[in-house]
Amino acid sequence: QPVAIVCVGMAGSGKTTFMQQINAHLHGKKEPPYVINLDPAVTHAPFESNIDIRDSVNYKEVMKQYNLGPNGGILTSLNLFATKVDQVVDLLEKRTTPDPANPARKPITNIIVDTPGQIEVFVWSASGTILLESLASSFPTVIAYIIDTPRTSSTSTFMSNMLYACSILYKTKLPMILVFNKTDVKDASFAKEWMTDYDAFQAALNEDEMNNAFGGQEGGDGMGSGSGYMGSLLNSMSLMLEEFYTHLSMVAVSSLYGTGIDEFFEAVKEKAEEFKRDYQPELEKRR
Ligand code: GDP
Ligand code: MG
Repeated sequence: QPVAIVCVGMAGSGKTTFMQQINAHLHGKKEPPYVINLDPAVTHAPFESNIDIRDSVNYKEVMKQYNLGPNGGILTSLNLFATKVDQVVDLLEKRTTPDPANPARKPITNIIVDTPGQIEVFVWSASGTILLESLASSFPTVIAYIIDTPRTSSTSTFMSNMLYACSILYKTKLPMILVFNKTDVKDASFAKEWMTDYDAFQAALNEDEMNNAFGGQEGGDGMGSGSGYMGSLLNSMSLMLEEFYTHLSMVAVSSLYGTGIDEFFEAVKEKAEEFKRDYQPELEKRR
């Protein structure tokens, strides 16, 4: 049974490098995936794609022709591509089922999708939604949310990133794996601790407040994380996140060195089952 893995994440979090790594991993297991690149603005992709948005739309031309900036260019390119989504799904369905005319050809078991650097363009646009929904209506679909671990190691960046992940979960209504990337630079054990131990996160919040420049200043604005408005907001948000975490898998990887990729595929298996059990019936109801 095939599964679709869609990589999303902030610009620079390492989506494309991660794609390259899972692609290499699957090739190594003699299970080459079907690769889709939806980033029209990528200048050199480190892997070969079966379907590449750049083959059907020229991002630079789109910008020129419609007089758009970079984000508008990506959005318009996605819109143009989304008109072909039926053809894409047809192709995918052919490649994931045995071909009677060509029994030697093994059906594809993994579809991997890279998305534009600018996460919001994909997640919050109508065409991004159409692309995701079309995929999810044909295959168990899992979101891999790629996180730049070194840039997420303070309590405030961590909290912001988790809230963003949470909003994407809510928006896409698809099972999600948090992929803590770049762990060759910064270990992700702090994240695991903060996600599983509410008290540990509270302690880290309080410690950050003590080191906080505003809090330390005389006559500070009273918005430190431990007290007042900000304190109670942070407490409520971390309680909400505690619930959010129970629905997620988290893995620590280095896309540079290829560590953690086996664990990632374990999580994919688990989430694909979850998709079939919990998400598919929901999707069918909505249709
Ligand atoms: P994207 O915008 O999300 O597609 O990010 P890219 O894959 O283009 O990566 C952005 C930058 O992060 C590049 O310079 C990569 O070499 C670097 N990078 C990606 N993954 C890792 C990793 O696991 N470790 C380290 N140290 N750097 C990484
Ligand atoms: Mg990229």
